[in-house]
Amino acid sequence: MSGGISKAVTNAMDIGANSFALFLKSPRKWVSPDIPDAEAEKFAELCKKYGYNPRTDILPHGSYFINLGNPDPEKEEKAYGSFLDDLKRCEKLNIGLYNFHPGSSLDSDHGEALERLAKNINKAIKETEFVKIVIENMAGHGNLIGSNLQDIRDVIDMVEDKSRVGVCLDTCHSFAAGYDISDEEKFNAFLKQFDDIIGAEYLSAIHLNDSKAPLGANRDLHQKLGYGFLGLEVFRVIANCDRLKTIPIILETPVGNDDSVYGEEIKLLEWLEGRSIDDGEFVAKTEELSKLGSKERDEHLKKFEAKTAKSEKKTGTKKRTVKVEITTMVSKKTKTK
Ligand SMILES: [Zn+2]
Repeated sequence: MSGGISKAVTNAMDIGANSFALFLKSPRKWVSPDIPDAEAEKFAELCKKYGYNPRTDILPHGSYFINLGNPDPEKEEKAYGSFLDDLKRCEKLNIGLYNFHPGSSLDSDHGEALERLAKNINKAIKETEFVKIVIENMAGHGNLIGSNLQDIRDVIDMVEDKSRVGVCLDTCHSFAAGYDISDEEKFNAFLKQFDDIIGAEYLSAIHLNDSKAPLGANRDLHQKLGYGFLGLEVFRVIANCDRLKTIPIILETPVGNDDSVYGEEIKLLEWLEGRSIDDGEFVAKTEELSKLGSKERDEHLKKFEAKTAKSEKKTGTKKRTVKVEITTMVSKKTKTK
């Protein structure tokens, strides 16, 4: 969006995206100037020109410091102001979905923090017209809200207008929070759990990221597809998953300042469509990308093991073991061929 919010549309088109995310204002500043009317008009024109439906294909990301569960009333109010401002910006751009991090209970009672979050969502829904508030699941660090599916269910239970609330599943956060989604069976079991706990109708978007840190590490460390502990297989499964075809799937992989890397990952996802797990080219690609990420995986595995050992020493308990091998299943299949 640098150079004006309408730039996001041309940038998305340039890299071959058919849905995209953007920030509605500087994500690290409390106050930003309003979106000029001319920019909003340009945004609408470009969406029309390039075939993006702003109601379904665009998923803005809320500011990082918005914590609607903050126990300090003054800070909670400040967060709410920024949240509502984001939602109004969406509606000015005719955007139908808005994604945000559900925040943290900090040192307060977790249940009460969920109540504060739901209360603020209810208030914001009453002050806006149509934008759907999409809660993202988190990686499980500290007192974060929404690292388990039940938290999100509890919040939705308290939302009065349920047609205005949805959920975004981040693949990296899910894995880091301890949900193993690294192969087809496990990913489908996770979706089943989502449907049972939250409800299929709430799944509104996917954030697509590999994870630099291992399963259950509670670290929010995005990695390029296929480089991390998830591995390429789950992205093949997602690229071929029918029920995900109608919702935005957003890449948040680390690309530095080079947006063209997203273009390559989009091509990779398109290449994965229609491929089976034992497709020779897929197996080779899995190994190629896994190799490129092996150094970073080793580093983060060591960190994770050191941290686990430290906390075991402290509490005298053992943490569960973590899956390290990510290409075994695919490799075995080709070797026997
Ligand atoms: Zn995300």
